[in-house]
Amino acid sequence: MWDFSTDTAFQEKLDWAAGFVQEEIEPLDVLFPGNAEPYDRGTEVFRDIVRPLQRQVRGQRLWAAHLPPSLGGMGMGQVHLGLLNEILGRSAWAPMVFGTQAPDSGNAEILAHYGTEEQRKAYLEPLLDGRIVSTFAMTEPSGGADPGGFTCRAVRDGDEWVIDGEKWFASHYPLAAFVIAMVVTDPDKPVHQGASMILVPAGTPGMEMVRGTGLAGEPLGQGVHAYLRFTGCRVPAENLLGEPGAGFRIAQTRLGGGRLHHAMRSVGQCRRALEMMTERVASRRTRGGPLADQQSVRHQLADSWIQIEQFRLQVLHAAWQMDRAERTGDSADARRARLHVSGVKAATPGILVDVAYRALHLHGALGVSNELGLARMWQSGPTLGVADGPTEAHQDVVARLLLKDAVPAEDPLFGSAHLPTRLAAARAKYADRLKETAVPR
Ligand SMILES: Cc1cc2nc3c(=O)[nH]c(=O)nc-3n(C[C@H](O)[C@H](O)[C@H](O)COP(=O)(O)OP(=O)(O)OC[C@H]3O[C@@H](n4cnc5c(N)ncnc54)[C@H](O)[C@@H]3O)c2cc1C
Repeated sequence: MWDFSTDTAFQEKLDWAAGFVQEEIEPLDVLFPGNAEPYDRGTEVFRDIVRPLQRQVRGQRLWAAHLPPSLGGMGMGQVHLGLLNEILGRSAWAPMVFGTQAPDSGNAEILAHYGTEEQRKAYLEPLLDGRIVSTFAMTEPSGGADPGGFTCRAVRDGDEWVIDGEKWFASHYPLAAFVIAMVVTDPDKPVHQGASMILVPAGTPGMEMVRGTGLAGEPLGQGVHAYLRFTGCRVPAENLLGEPGAGFRIAQTRLGGGRLHHAMRSVGQCRRALEMMTERVASRRTRGGPLADQQSVRHQLADSWIQIEQFRLQVLHAAWQMDRAERTGDSADARRARLHVSGVKAATPGILVDVAYRALHLHGALGVSNELGLARMWQSGPTLGVADGPTEAHQDVVARLLLKDAVPAEDPLFGSAHLPTRLAAARAKYADRLKETAVPR
C-alpha cells in the first residue's frame, strides 16, 4: 500500500526536533558561522552550550539516530532518518548536536564493525559520545573520483604497517583524534581489491599536515580540509581495519546512507530558501505592488516548489529502497537501492543551485551580501557536486546499472518500438476478430 503519511509517534519526534532546531540550535549558526566551529571540541561553547543541548537530544532518544541500537542509536531506518535529516539541514550546527555529522557517523560504523576491542574503547566510545571528532582520508592530490590514481601505500614490516604517500581534502584533520585512511596494500591488484582501511591516531610521527585548505570565501591558508603527508608513518599491524584489500567494500557501506542524509539536508535547506523567497516577494514592493504580482516571479516560486517536492519524494523513495534491501538482504534489492542512491546523489547539487539561486536573486543585493545565508547555501550546491564523488561518477553508476538489464533489440535497425512492426504484430494478434477495413494499412 502507498502511504505518504508519517506515523504519529515519529511525527511527534519530528515536531519536537523542528522546534528544537529552530529555537535552540539555529542561533548558534549566527553566533558561530565558521565551517569548522561545530567540530571543535576544545571550546567553552562546546562544553557550556552544545553538551547540554546534546543531552536534550539524548533525552528524546534521537541521539546518533543513524546507528543501530547496539551502538546507542535508534536503528530507525533510512526513511525516518531522511525525515529527521530534512529538519537538521536547516542548521549547520544541528547534525553535531544530534550526533549524526559526517564523517564521524561513517567512521563510527567502520570502527564498530572492524575495530579491535582496544580501538573501540579508545576511539569508538568517545566518538559515539561526541567527545572527539575524526577524519576520513581517501582522496589524493593525484586522484579523487578515480581511485586508480591512488598511490598512498602501506607496507607490512614485522608487527607494523609503514605508510607513505599523500591525502587531500581530509576534512577536520586539525581537530580530529584519529584518521581512517585508504591505503594501497597490494599494488599488484586492481585498486578495488588492493586497497585497505587503516587507523592512524593523531600525533603519530610521520603524519603531517602540509597545509589546511578552506572553501571559497574562507581566508587563504586557513581551513580544515587537510593536505596530509605520510612519511615512514608506522602504526601497529592491528590498525588495519578489516581484511587487507577490503577497503572499498568497507567504504561503500559507510557512504550510501550518508549520501541520502546529505540529500535530505539539502531538501531542508531548499525549503528554508523557499520560505525566504516567499516572504521576500510578498513583502517587497515594485511598480506599485508586491514583487509577487510579477508573473516571472510567481513562476520562480512555483518552479522551486515543484523541484523540491519532486526531489524530496525521490530521496524518500531511495531511502525506502535502502530499507527494503537491508530487510530482505536480497542482492537485486541492494542493486536497486544503489541505483536510487546514485540517482539522488547526482541530482542533489542541481536542486540546491537552482532554488538557492532564485532565492538569492529575488533578494537583490541583499541576496548576494554577507547579511543573508543564501550565497553560502548556493555555494554548497557545487560543493556537494564534488564531495563524496562527483556528479558524473554517480551518473555513470546509474547508467551502468540501467544498462545491466538492457536487452538489445531483435531488429537492431528499427528497434522494438517501431510502429510499423508493432502494427503488423497487432494485426496478426487480432486477425480473427478484426474486419479488414478497421485497421489502417
Ligand atoms: C567540502 C568537501 C569535503 C571533502 N571531504 C573529504 C574527506 O573528508 N575525505 C576525502 O577523502 N575526500 C574528501 N573530499 C574530496 C572529494 O571526495 C573529492 O573532491 C571527489 O572525490 C572528487 O575528486 P577530485 O577533487 O580529485 O576531482 P577529480 O577526480 O579530478 O574530478 C574533477 C572533475 O572531473 C570530472 N570527472 C571526474 N571523473 C569523471 C568521470 N568518470 N566521468 C566524467 N567526468 C568526470 C568531474 O567534473 C569532476 O568534478 C571532500 C571534498 C569537498 C568538496
